[in-house]
Amino acid sequence: MKSPKKDLSRRKFIKTGLLTGVGTIVGMSSINTSFANYVSGMSSAVTPAVLGGDPKGYRPGWPSWPVWKSDSDERRLLEVMRSGVWSRNKLVDEFEHKWAQMIGSKRCLAVVNGTNALNTSLAQLGIGWGDEVLVSSYTFIASVSCILFSGAIPIFVDVDPETFQMDPDKIEEKITPNTKAIIPVHILGLPCDIERIMAIAKKHDLLVVEDSCQAWLAEVNGKKVGTFGNAGCYSFQNSKNMAIGEGGAIVSDDDEFMDRCYSYHNYGNPYGSTAGQISAGTVMIGTKLRITEYQAAIGLAQMERLKGQTELRNENAAYLKSRIQNIEGIVPYKLTPNVTKAAFHLFPFLYKTDDFKGLSREKFLKALNAEGVPCSGGYTELNKMPFLKNAFNSKFYQKFYPKERLDYDKYAEENKCPMNEKLCNELAVWIPQNILLGSKSDMDYIANAIGKIRDNAEKIKNKI
Ligand SMILES: *Cc1c(COP(=O)(O)O)cnc(C)c1O
Repeated sequence: MKSPKKDLSRRKFIKTGLLTGVGTIVGMSSINTSFANYVSGMSSAVTPAVLGGDPKGYRPGWPSWPVWKSDSDERRLLEVMRSGVWSRNKLVDEFEHKWAQMIGSKRCLAVVNGTNALNTSLAQLGIGWGDEVLVSSYTFIASVSCILFSGAIPIFVDVDPETFQMDPDKIEEKITPNTKAIIPVHILGLPCDIERIMAIAKKHDLLVVEDSCQAWLAEVNGKKVGTFGNAGCYSFQNSKNMAIGEGGAIVSDDDEFMDRCYSYHNYGNPYGSTAGQISAGTVMIGTKLRITEYQAAIGLAQMERLKGQTELRNENAAYLKSRIQNIEGIVPYKLTPNVTKAAFHLFPFLYKTDDFKGLSREKFLKALNAEGVPCSGGYTELNKMPFLKNAFNSKFYQKFYPKERLDYDKYAEENKCPMNEKLCNELAVWIPQNILLGSKSDMDYIANAIGKIRDNAEKIKNKI
């Protein structure tokens, strides 16, 4: 019954690793027949959605984000609303206590967002004018803007494109007598090589602020990221795996530092060891960064689910990785050494145009989105954005720095990050975290959608 064409495409299918064995077929048995036919090797005969193909078979209904369960989540929130106690009080204390416990840190301070968790940490570690702070080039703006906000100068460290993380081999060459701190970012929720980074920091006597704003509950050697450095910062913004809408936290074991952070987030009013004389009044420079009781109530509800969701993301990410890692031209994320758990804020992989018959990443993304798989090309290059020049040209920077240190062209040259450039402009593909809360069949769907695109790469390249 089989046509030669089918046999050929089946062989091709096996070669590209899409048919990873009997297990795959068994896994498919739960979904409908037309899709099952497709995965058994008809991919080049199937028209991709981007070329007008009608995906008649199984289509995942992706889990929505954020999760809100009326039954379990609303009681506490309503109690807060009805009590009229809306400003920082017992629930925020409880939230901080539970977060510290969950992360395995002595103390936690909740603040309005991750950006200000970073700003506060840098300020209270005494990072400021004249200092240089090393930061990963592949990250979100707030990892870098906190450095400028403190008055220091960001120095970009290039990444290892396979892990997406700061490359430890490229740190020491960037250290100067002005270097004060490192901000390792556990970007995409995959831990960076924090053990090596800590060893380098120790050797050069540098402070470490971990940007764990995408890495809730991620672990290296069983220890949660965010607890390795002098401070760890988290974000609870709406898209994040631990979503409050807005919110952030700082964790640390250093009581004196945490007391200062508390004071700073509360107008500079006395707290713990910052108290000094009882009648001293406001004791230090401060601002106001407190979260509300209703934010804490939402956070406490989300926290209940975080462990289970994190396990599921890890399982699905490992499974999806196993399904796509043999597709030529697709290189799934690689974890840094000693990772015992990742957070998977995103599921990243590298896309190699040359192995997809020259189909550009842009067209690949368009085709994958058309199959109903949400995806994007991720970050653009931070180290080339105008905000850096803007800071160097500002009155503040010009007043406090000698001209030589504000030579932007020289700075831009010294801060080139070729691997980051490739990652941003050519290689990276992201699938968002909520997708990883789906079923195994959903992961199979993604793998097969990628396979379908690969088998039709030439056609897609020429037609869209
Ligand atoms: C989200 C994020 C931040 C900032 O957190 P907000 O709560 O949005 O202010 C900082 N760093 C990284 C890596 C992030 O992803």
